Amino acid sequence: MMRQLIIAGNWKMHKTVAEALSFVQELQSSGLDSRVEVVVCPAFTALAPVAEALKGSAIRLAAQNMHWEAQGAFTGEISPLMLKELGCKYVILGHSERRQYDGETDEKVNRKVKAALEHSLIPIICVGETLEQREAGKTAVTVETQTRAALSGLTTEQVAGLVFAYEPVWAIGTGKTASDQDAQQVNGLIREIIAGAYGAEAADAVRIQYGGSVKPANTRGLMSQPDIDGALVGGASLKVEDFAGIISEAQ
Ligand code: PEP
Repeated sequence: MMRQLIIAGNWKMHKTVAEALSFVQELQSSGLDSRVEVVVCPAFTALAPVAEALKGSAIRLAAQNMHWEAQGAFTGEISPLMLKELGCKYVILGHSERRQYDGETDEKVNRKVKAALEHSLIPIICVGETLEQREAGKTAVTVETQTRAALSGLTTEQVAGLVFAYEPVWAIGTGKTASDQDAQQVNGLIREIIAGAYGAEAADAVRIQYGGSVKPANTRGLMSQPDIDGALVGGASLKVEDFAGIISEAQ
C-alpha cells in the first residue's frame, strides 16, 4: 500500500497568535507539494485563528494534547469535542514531554486515544525510549509496551486509521537523530506489533512517523526507509524555511 507521507510541526509552547498566523501565511505562499500531508500543531490559544486562516488550504490542523472527557469539571483542560469544533483533524497524544512532566501514563494515553476516535479526531500516538532504556537494551520492550497499551480496546478498523510517531526521547530537541537504520528498525517493529495483533492490512495502512531532531539535511534518508511514513518535527518546525525544507526533502 502507498501510504501518504505526513509531516507535522509540533510548535509546543511557542508562537503567539500573531506569530502563528504569520507562519501559516508564509508557509502557504511557499508553494507546498500536495503529495505530502502537512500538519501544524499550534498551542491551544492559536488553534481557532489558525483554523480560520487555513480554510480552503491543504494544511491540516492538530492539537498537542487533550482530555479524554467531552466536558466536565477539569479545570484547565481541553476536550475532544472542543478540538473537533475548531476543525482539528489530528491530536498528538502521549508526547514524551507530557509523559515526563505531566504524568501522562500509558493508561491515560489509551483513554485519550479512544476519546479522540469517538470524536473523529485522528490520534498521533507518540512512543519512544529514554536514553537509559536504550542503553539498557530496553528499546523494543518499551516501545512494545507503549504501543500495545495505546491500542488496548480498539477495533481493527480504528487501528488502521491511526498515526504513530516513534520518538526516541534522547533525540528530541537534542540535535541527536536516530540513524536511518535505527529509526527504521523501531518503526518496523511497531508495524510488526500491529500486524501481529490486528493483521497485515491494518499494519499496512497505519502511518508511522519518526520524530527527534528532524531537519532538512536528515529528512531524505529517514523518509526513504520503508516503514517511515513522515516526521513529527519540533524545533525545525518553528521557522518556515526549515519546515518547508523538510517538506520538500520528504517528497
Ligand atoms: C518533538 O518534540 O516531537 C520533536 C521531535 O522535537 P525536535 O524535532 O525538536 O527534536
